[in-house]
Amino acid sequence: LGRMFTMAAQSMGYRVMVLDPGDHSPAGSVADRHLQADYLDREALRAMASRCAAATTEFENVPAESLAFLAQHRVVSPSADAVAVAQDRIREKTFLADNGLDVAPFAVIAGDADLQEARLAPLLPGILKIARLGYDGKGQVRVGTLQEVRTAFASLGGKACVLEKFLDLECEVSVVVARAFDDSVVTWPVAENHHAAGILDISIVPARVPAPLADAARAAAMKVARCLDYRGVLCVEFFVLRDGRLIVNEIAPRPHNSGHYTIDACVTSQFEQQARVLCSLPLGDTQMHCPAVMVNLLGDLWASGEPRWEHVLRHARAKLHLYGKTEARPGRKMGHYTVLADDVGQALATATEIKAMLLADAQSMRAAGAA
Ligand code: ATP
Ligand code: MG
Repeated sequence: LGRMFTMAAQSMGYRVMVLDPGDHSPAGSVADRHLQADYLDREALRAMASRCAAATTEFENVPAESLAFLAQHRVVSPSADAVAVAQDRIREKTFLADNGLDVAPFAVIAGDADLQEARLAPLLPGILKIARLGYDGKGQVRVGTLQEVRTAFASLGGKACVLEKFLDLECEVSVVVARAFDDSVVTWPVAENHHAAGILDISIVPARVPAPLADAARAAAMKVARCLDYRGVLCVEFFVLRDGRLIVNEIAPRPHNSGHYTIDACVTSQFEQQARVLCSLPLGDTQMHCPAVMVNLLGDLWASGEPRWEHVLRHARAKLHLYGKTEARPGRKMGHYTVLADDVGQALATATEIKAMLLADAQSMRAAGAA
């Protein structure tokens, strides 16, 4: 995310400084300057505060105090307060419910005293989710009985969790929204998201849901941005239940994987918009040029070497994005491709065909390697 933001800001003429403790930082390697230091490193934060007109973050687990420090000197978006809400599932769900948005029925489990049959039985079967620092389905355990909740709670280190009722989903959708310092708000079209093993696999846009539901999702996303007094780009993930109800799953206080299609399919990408907000420029148009399907490329595809990208690139309306990550671990997001088409069915058909080719190739390379 940081890399795609950096590239978008640079293409508008800005220079970008990246703070990232990693030595093969995808964003740092394209930035004008990479400060390789911890997110709490005072000297690095001071350097940012003195050199940068504005600062943003690519993920919600940057310590809120670092953002608060930068905000004493510079424009910081999103604010430490907004990030702090999204960093903690308990605060997040409470915030959403307090503002009249539907969330999955849940209970907070902070200690053994909270593990009572009467309290938790209505939420079973459910999912126990660690309150802080979970992502891509990590820190989550499916549970069917109170005993399983106990075991799962212990396996998550006894740290504060929420137990969420397991819901019967029709589908999952998300909306990326941008809110500027002048209070203007825009949303992009609704994405329909499919996960594999807890990780986003593909996004289909526009989502194949009834128009009133899409409108309600966009309105809810704008409401979240306003209620958080949010400035910047934010994504709201929703569950669509079989009875048509829209439930907010979670908030990501940053551009989102399900919004990557905006780079190729929209007048303004989520990353350019983030730069516009930071620099107090007018928001860009979010309109789509045409339907799009985005597919994530996970490290698993690299198991026997670099995938053959001609499978993607021989389609003139498929766009490949690789993030420059040096190590391809299973489950690691290495890049994505987006297929554009005149209708969403065609985009999905081509995207699926490309994926099948890449997977078949990886399998045959693995078989050849084993032989
Ligand atoms: P990510 O980083 O990909 O957003 P995450 O670790 O924050 O993932 P969630 O978004 O809470 O986790 O859940 C991951 C996926 O698990 C959801 O997209 C959904 O498919 C499934 N899931 C989560 N909670 C529920 C639920 N209450 N009922 C049914 N399915 C659920
Ligand atoms: Mg999620």
